[in-house]
Amino acid sequence: MSEKMSFQAEVNKMLNIVVNSLYSEKYIFLRELISNASDACDKLKYLMLTKPDIAVNNGELKITVTPDEKNNTLTVSDNGIGMNKDDLINHLGVIAKSGTSDFIANMKENGAAADLIGQFGVGFYSAFMVADKVEIITKKAGEEEAYKWISNGVDGFEIEPDQKESIGFEIKLYLKPEDKNFTDTIYLRHLIRTYSDHINYPIELDLGEAGREVVNTASALWVKNKSEITPEQYKDFYQHISHNFDDPWLTLHFKAEGSMEYTSLLFIPSTQPYDLFQPDRKQSLKLYVNRVFISDKVEDLMPNYLRFVKGIVDSSDLPLNISREMLQQNALIAKIRNGIVGRLLKDLKKRMENYEDYLKFWQNFGTAFKEGIYEDYSNRAEIAGLSLFYSTNDENKLTSLDDYIKRMPKDQNAVYYITGDDVKVLSNNPQLEIFKKNGREVLLLIDPIDEFWTQTLANYKGKPIKHISQADENWQITRDGAKADEGSFDKLLNFMGELFKDELGKVQPTEKLTSAPVALNVESGQMSIHLERLMRNHQQQTAFNSNRILEVNPYHPLIIKMSEAMEDEKNKEEIAKIAKILLDQAKIAEGEPISDPAFYVSAVSEYLLKTF
Ligand code: ADP
Ligand code: MG
Repeated sequence: MSEKMSFQAEVNKMLNIVVNSLYSEKYIFLRELISNASDACDKLKYLMLTKPDIAVNNGELKITVTPDEKNNTLTVSDNGIGMNKDDLINHLGVIAKSGTSDFIANMKENGAAADLIGQFGVGFYSAFMVADKVEIITKKAGEEEAYKWISNGVDGFEIEPDQKESIGFEIKLYLKPEDKNFTDTIYLRHLIRTYSDHINYPIELDLGEAGREVVNTASALWVKNKSEITPEQYKDFYQHISHNFDDPWLTLHFKAEGSMEYTSLLFIPSTQPYDLFQPDRKQSLKLYVNRVFISDKVEDLMPNYLRFVKGIVDSSDLPLNISREMLQQNALIAKIRNGIVGRLLKDLKKRMENYEDYLKFWQNFGTAFKEGIYEDYSNRAEIAGLSLFYSTNDENKLTSLDDYIKRMPKDQNAVYYITGDDVKVLSNNPQLEIFKKNGREVLLLIDPIDEFWTQTLANYKGKPIKHISQADENWQITRDGAKADEGSFDKLLNFMGELFKDELGKVQPTEKLTSAPVALNVESGQMSIHLERLMRNHQQQTAFNSNRILEVNPYHPLIIKMSEAMEDEKNKEEIAKIAKILLDQAKIAEGEPISDPAFYVSAVSEYLLKTF
């Protein structure tokens, strides 16, 4: 009895795009199917080691590619773990992965991009690029029943019980007439060698009467000597494990010896994955023990801030039958992690010498990488040194902390920063004027994470890291002399303090402003205005913070005039109005919303009208 089922709506949408797009690189389907077969062999191998009673010995694990020119079909089979009925329904009828709707949106916007297919985990469905019907026969390790799964990629799929002697998976593609070239053995041999050479299992090409030929090298790339591996092979391997189609920006292949023996082959991609900042994104290094794949979910193997690193670690020091649960919080794993993180940071440091090249890495991954200053206590100084920031030195160019320090005048004793949403807005903040006038460079930090690492990294190379509000300097300012009369200025401050008592913590004088009459600040040690805004935007905190300080510049002509006006009772109403406008302007300079835009607009218009 066959059961008819429909694809999840998402799958339908995706299939529609996959099938109807004109890929120039249709052949990637073969790579995807072989990659799935290889994963299935990995899984069975692992099962045989950990649960020998369930897994049957399935002979030598291998993958077979069988073209049939006469019937225009192509079959890819493996003797890996296989699938049962539930697997077929849950893995080949729905898309479990998040980000699929992003994928669909992206494909619609930017047209079909073949290089996204693998990355979004739609590997299997790529079969429908070349086939108008797909038939799978499979039997899962430890189970009796075999099943057949059939689909034309349009009207859902059918499942029925079937006969299959051995454990494994067999997928037959009924090729579209225009895709007949995928039955050509010369072409197939070329494709397998080019894209699947590094697969750890033999890939046999069935040549019919001429017998079977193993086409790939079938050995783990990472055990070879570096000198024997070509850049092309590294790239193919990277593309295989990352599901990416770009070139790796960094390839790091090394063997660690000493207290812990392992080999690692790591890559940093040259493009940013779509899900870098999705909360469920975890590191995905593949862990092998003596070339047996164990898991790609050992979270402790790589810290979160390096979650974009792809690759493998193969260790002979871990027990083969280690359970996946035992791998978490394992001391040996922590040792490996420290080793590979150290190597990566060292390589990044070398690459940093070439600014333009390093920028490519930074633009893709800098924001995630910077989390390390906060997260990785023991390496935070190195990570900070490898980080780039905007600064008032050149708003268009990212700088390192070391370069900042090199530019520091002798009498400057701290690295200054300000945080906000936007470099341009920040660099026009009136509070920076005095820093600029005194030759003090200020870092313009615009990533949410900057709010956090600046709190944990107190010093860099002996220089304290300080928010501009914590600057402790003898500022040199040339002023033309005029200053508000002390007595009436005090009255003005008291008056404003009373006026804003519900909204502000304090109104106080400042010597640090030049062209601006007022500025908003917070008490030192308090959450910055920007962080408060971030939290508010994430609904972490709804209450308005009451400890803000409005700083008032006694040298500003407007403040001088307002102070003078304080001497006459009848000016109070006007002064209150102007004071409110000034507070709103201070908020605007901080990128903060103003509380009563209608008041602001009408009041400012009223004063503008008086201009002529
Ligand atoms: P991915 O490989 O990224 O998981 P695919 O779309 O390529 O996504 O495959 C979907 C799922 O189908 C796999 O995760 C696996 O569970 C199952 N699958 C595909 N091919 C095989 C196979 N040859 N043997 C066993 N299971 C397979
Ligand atoms: Mg796959």
